[in-house]
This record gives sequence, C-alpha cells and structure tokens, in this order.
Amino acid sequence: MGIGFDNLTKAEFIQRAEDMLCKHDRGYCVTPNAEIVYEAIQDESFRELLNGASLVLPDGAGVILGAKILGTPMKEKVAGIEFGEAICKLLSQRSGRLYLLGSKPGIAEMAGEKLAQKYPGLMICGTADGYFKDEAEVVEKINAAKPDVIFVCLGAPKQERFIKNHFDELDATLMLGLGGSLDGYAGTVQRAPKWMIDLSLEWLYRLIKDPKRLGRMMRLPKFVIICYKEKLRRKKNG
Ligand code: UDP
Repeated sequence: MGIGFDNLTKAEFIQRAEDMLCKHDRGYCVTPNAEIVYEAIQDESFRELLNGASLVLPDGAGVILGAKILGTPMKEKVAGIEFGEAICKLLSQRSGRLYLLGSKPGIAEMAGEKLAQKYPGLMICGTADGYFKDEAEVVEKINAAKPDVIFVCLGAPKQERFIKNHFDELDATLMLGLGGSLDGYAGTVQRAPKWMIDLSLEWLYRLIKDPKRLGRMMRLPKFVIICYKEKLRRKKNG
C-alpha cells in the first residue's frame, strides 16, 4: 500500500545497522506502527519520508496483520524500542556515542542514565528535550556532541521530518526515529507485560493506561479495513 517495509528479522536489522556503523554508511531508520502507516497512506510527503529511510521496521502487530492480509507476510514484528536497545548494545561494544533527543524536559537525561548503566561502554554524549523552538540551535548542539547515533524521539511525523530536513547537516552515522521510546527507557511509561506483547495486545495495554489515545487508536481498525479493501481490489483486478 505504498510503504516499503524491510522484511527482515530483528537479528538481520541489527546486522544491517552494525554494517552501516562500521562502514560509516549514513542513513536513518523509521519504525512505523499501524497508526503511523494509516497516516502515511493518506499523506504522500510523509510516505516519501518513510520510504527514504535505510531501514523501515514493522513496529507492531497491526503492521504484521496488514502484511498478512495483503498476502505479503513479514518475518517478524520488530519494536522500535527493542531495536533502540540493540543499538545501545552495539555501541557499548565499540565505545560508541549516542545522543538522545526528545520527550519532556528531564526524560532524555533519565533515559541516558539508565541506558548507560545497563550498557557499560555506551557513551551518552548529549541529551535535549523535544519541545524546542529553534531547530538550528538543536542541530548545532547535537553536532558539538559528536554522536555516532542519534535517537530522535519526537513522535511521528515530527521526528521523520526533523531527520529529513537536517539530514545533510547532522554529523552522525545513524539516526533513528523512535517515538515514545525515551519514556520507556526512562521508566516513566511502562511497556505492556510480556504475555500481552506475546498475544499482540500491547495496543490494549496502552489504551487502558492512557485512554486519551482512543481517538488515535481508532486508526487501527480503520487500517485493518483498508487492508481488506485493498485485498479485495487486488483480487478483482486479478
Ligand atoms: N514529543 C516531543 N516533542 C513534541 C511532541 C512529542 O518530544 O513536540 C515526544 C513525546 O513527549 C513522547 C514522544 O514524542 O515522548 C511521542 O510518543 P508516542 O508514543 O506518541 O510516539 P509515536 O506513537 O508517535 O511513535
């Protein structure tokens, strides 16, 4: 439906990221879930931003279901928050430098402390909250910290637009759009229990914890409906 996901396992995504880091092959990664894909289907410029990424990870059970409905099943779901941790592990093995951008004031610092504790060798070279006015100032601050990787956690599509608009100026090898991951690393927002993740019910947990998400989450059933419509259309057209 116009979004070019990479059909890789989590281990394969990590390998690709490692290759990029080793070769200083610059790029950005995006982690759209079904809600974000639904947005992108209606918005061509956002779709282009997603498709311009070096790695497009299927973040969420909804994307996996959509791909299955369309007869193009994917290997596995790869949550952005888990991919981010895998990158921290990679960086910790090579004394790599990570910059954390996004979320409310104080959260990126807290996430940085927790990640540095969990992954000895990982260097958190800087942090900034995601509620800034002057983008050029933020870019300057990031470059002064000399990161290898930047986690850009401003929510979609803001984070993808930030990365694309400043890609040439930002002096880092990898840029990852990771949505609300900093809240997760900081521990201010809990992930669903494993059994709910395994049953593809993470969306339900998020909804119970934050009922304000209901409006946004209505995109999920709408997404499934348009996948079935597309399947029917393809069947009719042979
Ligand atoms: N955020 C931000 N700046 C903004 C808007 C949002 O830093 O101008 C942060 C927000 O605090 C939260 C994250 O972006 O930490 C968005 O989280 P969400 O779970 O909504 O991400 P998504 O589902 O879009 O990936």
